[in-house]
Amino acid sequence: MTEARENLMDWLRDAHAMEKQAETMLSATAERLENYPELRSKLQAHAEETRQQAVLVEQCLQRLGEDTSTLKDVVGKTTAMAQGLSGMFVSDEVVKAMMASYTFEHMEIAAYRSLIAAAELVGDVETQRVCEAILPQEQAMADWLEERIGSITQQFLQRDMQSDATAKH
Ligand code: MG
Ligand code: FE
Repeated sequence: MTEARENLMDWLRDAHAMEKQAETMLSATAERLENYPELRSKLQAHAEETRQQAVLVEQCLQRLGEDTSTLKDVVGKTTAMAQGLSGMFVSDEVVKAMMASYTFEHMEIAAYRSLIAAAELVGDVETQRVCEAILPQEQAMADWLEERIGSITQQFLQRDMQSDATAKH
């Protein structure tokens, strides 16, 4: 079971890096969205939720014996997507932000589903419980975005037709 436990810890480290990155992206994107207050406050709320998720994942690692003071959060796997979300100063920023956030939430959903299964196999009941608690938060965020991608896209297009620069964010 040692190797499975090592994998579980690796994936928890990945999840921790993912959450730290999510927090940065959500906050940065929310700050730039001036004309979409509902989306803005949702991103802010999920950023706060995300901060708590990072703490919970860190506690799982600590329980498994990890010295979390050395957690580097080297971000490899999620970098490309993050750049898509955080480096955007394009004209259709709000639409790109919706798409990137929606994609990111689904990556998180996949990560926690995998972690739940791994924790179950290893017999780490507490990690399983924590991941089962986080998963519905990611699903709720994905659902929220899914319901609004269409209407926000249309809002953007209508704004874009009326004015010049104000629609983008
Ligand atoms: Mg998350
Ligand atoms: Fe999330």
